[in-house]
Amino acid sequence: MTTGFDVINPATEEVVRTVPLTSAQDTDAAIERAHAAWPAWRAVVPADRARLLRRFAAAVDAEVENLALLEVANAGHTIGNARWEAGNVRDVLDYYSAAPERLFGRQIPVPGGVNMTFAEPLGVVGVIVPWNFPMPIAGWGFAPALAAGNTVVLKPAELTPLTAIRIGELARAAGIPEDVFQVLPGKGSVVGQRFVDHPAVRKIVFTGSTEVGKQIMAGCARQVKRVTLELGGKNANIVFADADLEKAAATAPYGVFDNAGQDCCARSRILVQRSVYDRFLELLEPAVRGVVVGDPGLAATEMGPLISSAHRASVAAYVPDDAPVAFRGSAPDGPGFWFPPTVLAPVSASDPAVTEEVFGPVVAVLPFEDEDDAVRIANDTEYGLSGSIWTRDVGRALRVSRGVEAGNLSVNSHSSVRYWTPFGGFKQSGLGRELGPDAVAAFTETKNVFIAND
Ligand code: NAD
Repeated sequence: MTTGFDVINPATEEVVRTVPLTSAQDTDAAIERAHAAWPAWRAVVPADRARLLRRFAAAVDAEVENLALLEVANAGHTIGNARWEAGNVRDVLDYYSAAPERLFGRQIPVPGGVNMTFAEPLGVVGVIVPWNFPMPIAGWGFAPALAAGNTVVLKPAELTPLTAIRIGELARAAGIPEDVFQVLPGKGSVVGQRFVDHPAVRKIVFTGSTEVGKQIMAGCARQVKRVTLELGGKNANIVFADADLEKAAATAPYGVFDNAGQDCCARSRILVQRSVYDRFLELLEPAVRGVVVGDPGLAATEMGPLISSAHRASVAAYVPDDAPVAFRGSAPDGPGFWFPPTVLAPVSASDPAVTEEVFGPVVAVLPFEDEDDAVRIANDTEYGLSGSIWTRDVGRALRVSRGVEAGNLSVNSHSSVRYWTPFGGFKQSGLGRELGPDAVAAFTETKNVFIAND
């Protein structure tokens, strides 16, 4: 370990803890230990590996409240969200604990013998996590990776290492061998870069910005290293005139301002059919003003602060003094990196708040004419992560769902993430899928074996 990093509570600006940063040398040593631990971990019989994962899930379950409080202090997440996030780690571990006993191969009919396939683990998997959802995003990587028989080194974001460190301790307490799952807090340019460069790391699971994701992909190419990328989003919430407008307007703020808009799935463009555009804005205004912004530790709070002072400055740059602000919600005064929910309308299609991922509580409301126009505007971005479609017409819901180029769509809701179903992006929003029944396949190689019968 080298220098330390002050973890700041974004709601109070107080230092929560100073966390040592792992050096390049210590990262290499950890990777080598993970590599050495791999043969024994992959040899653990499936039923025992499953049992260990269930024990790990139970250890997380027993600590949901502590983990949630830690996330409130570290990331300013609302306590309600933070409890869900800790519970999600437990649920994802439980879900993938079923995988070791079901890692089936196939017997394929061929002439002259018997042909079978095996799902072999890769080796050491490096998981690189962003600061916006520290717990769930870590779990989506490490749970299926461990289940498939890989060892894991995990780097939390510099700003939000506390829950990952605790989850690493819980894994050990549950009986997961120390070198099988290691949490290495540190810098992306040091620890993350060693994951990319070290030949013993056979796969990178990266969630973060599209810019860094491209660098990681290029770095992995040097060793043909496997990579899963979950990157940015500029998602559309498409509201047709035939929708339940009251419900669409009442829920729209939560589709974008949840986690203070620091969500790759935030519906930061609301596209509204022109005939109901004015009515929708009338309904949206009280909904936005009603978002409860404040102390994230209080049960009634719906939106907390942004993660850091620097990030608040970057969000604020999308709302200059002459920005077309239609209306705004509230935000506390005093310490904390607060930013009020902000609605831009009418707004130019070329405004950076419309074209770029803001990653804060800023939403642009744009009109469209008909189905084709809605799909065209929704797809007018390099991103393709998620989106919502509000209509009472089932045929339209299906046509538009098929037309929008995004990995995760919801009709008459804003649901993106359910651990039972695949999650990931089209276009520059990513590569590969996490979660769902097939995620373990992304942590194995298919081996084909033919046995001659003569
Ligand atoms: P970031 O890209 O700055 O950092 C993400 C992680 O990568 C951090 O742990 C960082 O330390 C590390 N890193 C940085 N440079 C690195 C390098 N050269 N080599 C290896 N690792 C490096 O992103 P962020 O600001 O932490 O997170 C916000 C971004 O994440 C947003 O763009 C958001 O859309 C995206 N995101 C995507 C998803 C998704 O599932 N698609 C989910 C959450 C967040």
